[in-house]
Amino acid sequence: MHLITFTEAGRTRIGILDLAHDEVIDLTQVAGDLPDSMLAFIARGTDALGTARTAVESGAGRLALARVQLLAPIPRPLRNVFCIGKNYRAHVQELQGAGTSFATDFKQAIPEKPIFFTKTTTSVIGPQMSIPASLDPTASADYEGELAVIIGTGGRGIARADAMRHVYGYTILNDVTSRRLQRDHQQWFLGKSLDGFCPMGPAIVTADAIDDINQLRVQTWVNGELRQDDVIASLIFDIPTLIETLSRTMTLEPGDIIATGTPAGVGMGFKPPRFLQTGDVVKISIAPIGTLENPVA
Ligand code: MG
Repeated sequence: MHLITFTEAGRTRIGILDLAHDEVIDLTQVAGDLPDSMLAFIARGTDALGTARTAVESGAGRLALARVQLLAPIPRPLRNVFCIGKNYRAHVQELQGAGTSFATDFKQAIPEKPIFFTKTTTSVIGPQMSIPASLDPTASADYEGELAVIIGTGGRGIARADAMRHVYGYTILNDVTSRRLQRDHQQWFLGKSLDGFCPMGPAIVTADAIDDINQLRVQTWVNGELRQDDVIASLIFDIPTLIETLSRTMTLEPGDIIATGTPAGVGMGFKPPRFLQTGDVVKISIAPIGTLENPVA
């Protein structure tokens, strides 16, 4: 199932995206006892998913996709989005190549342990919403197409072997970054957390719909030019390792978002760098999750 958050007739609620028919199924119409927010829906676990599945089969509650506005599937996350830096070898190599202009901490080799940072909840925007690159006073906004993991059942001390049972589903995330703020402030937080610098969506695909997550391919285009193209199997630290590492010391909660890192091909890796400009369009696809497209303003 492709779970979405959408607004129609001034009301925001959750539904299911049916791309085969260009329709949305309004879950609040077909199953009135379901919550209208994605975080509450995820927290209700497999029971809520089962109710949703039954409701879909009824054929009721269908709206034309063109009538609704899709938001990020979790428009305001519970807490900051967890992110991983340098999780594809070829991306680490392109950062080393970016040299002294993007300085010190970009020089290190393949990390021995996952590098975690976060993005603010207020940086999240939905599909087709504008990335406000003009907010970046250093004019160095860059795209990072990524697979994001949504946690279902929370917990602390989750072992690798159990980790995938805690995955609720997956979505697409653009970890938009101000490269100069990232560099100048040492910690990455500021350069990663500008308003609107975290496009997410269009849907959360439930984990049961993905046979082998490692086979999924992340592709990013800027103005139709393919810039990033790699498979999840290339991750240096795989999803079970990320969940095990994070949960060793902190309790993961339903709805937590883990962005797994970006492949090679970011704008900073070009000589000279190719940062985002007003009027650009960034498109990230991961089949069968979908396509996340955002204009740059
Ligand atoms: Mg990233």
